[in-house]
Amino acid sequence: MPDLVIGCDVGGTLIKAGLFSTSGELLERARHTTGALLDEEAYQRVADLFGEMLAARGADGDDVVGIGIDTPGAVLADGTHVMHYNIEIDIAGLRSHLERAFPRAASAVLNDGNAAAVGEMWQGSGRGYDSIVLVVLGTGVGSGVVIGGHVLAGAHGCAGEIGHMCVDPAETRRCSCGKRGCAEQYASSTGIVRNYREACEAAGAEPVDTSAGSIAVFDAYRAGDPCAASVIELMCDRLGLCLANTAEAIDPELFVMGGGVSGSFDVFGERLRERYRDQVISACRDIPIEPAQLGNDAGMYGAAYEALRRRA
Ligand SMILES: [Zn+2]
Repeated sequence: MPDLVIGCDVGGTLIKAGLFSTSGELLERARHTTGALLDEEAYQRVADLFGEMLAARGADGDDVVGIGIDTPGAVLADGTHVMHYNIEIDIAGLRSHLERAFPRAASAVLNDGNAAAVGEMWQGSGRGYDSIVLVVLGTGVGSGVVIGGHVLAGAHGCAGEIGHMCVDPAETRRCSCGKRGCAEQYASSTGIVRNYREACEAAGAEPVDTSAGSIAVFDAYRAGDPCAASVIELMCDRLGLCLANTAEAIDPELFVMGGGVSGSFDVFGERLRERYRDQVISACRDIPIEPAQLGNDAGMYGAAYEALRRRA
């Protein structure tokens, strides 16, 4: 049996695991509700989930050479979890349980945004590059930075928090982080919907139903809604500035746009590229901006890759 590696994405509601070949082919997947991950019984549920995937391939625990876990919150370069949200997890306990259950496996723990960036570099839009910035445009705006093939964790586990980069010091409303003028306020799904509703109110226009999130605003734009157009222009302008500032600090080879909002990349992508180019120093103007390819699987790809890299 050839060597296998497991990537496991531990989110607030679901644990999603993938069994991969060492060359990055996704062979099996499994999922389970997360629950609290604080004792041996709970850790064993995760090991059992891995066991199901292995059994489906006629493999067993001795075939596993790497286990990567990605999770929300701040994770230091050594895998220490220093801050987490909406999830009860003892990552050190889970990791040591899995190391005992799969003794051949190297283990890695990383932040979910960083894992998604590594995943896109390994098997997604970033294939062939080794320095990329993934921007996850979801309920908030997260990101992951990979430089020279290595994920940048940062001294406090906060590297790449570009969603909270200030792109409008004159903003009066507060971001979820408490600051004002964060990129997240213009480019997250939440921000796009809020800005759209405010634009409609200011214009005395009736907003479309936005219960589906930002996709409703992109649909309204396609249908010619001027309030939607102004909000998407604002998004491209502010996100373009955020990417320009990031390029000037990091100078990556590629930007990748992921998260639910990136499903509308065909609507905003070209304008985002223009507003990026207009606001960045000339040496960085040609850095490509592309949509992500792996969707919600990017994190487990990246976790698996990171475990393989630790083994080497
Ligand atoms: Zn913020």
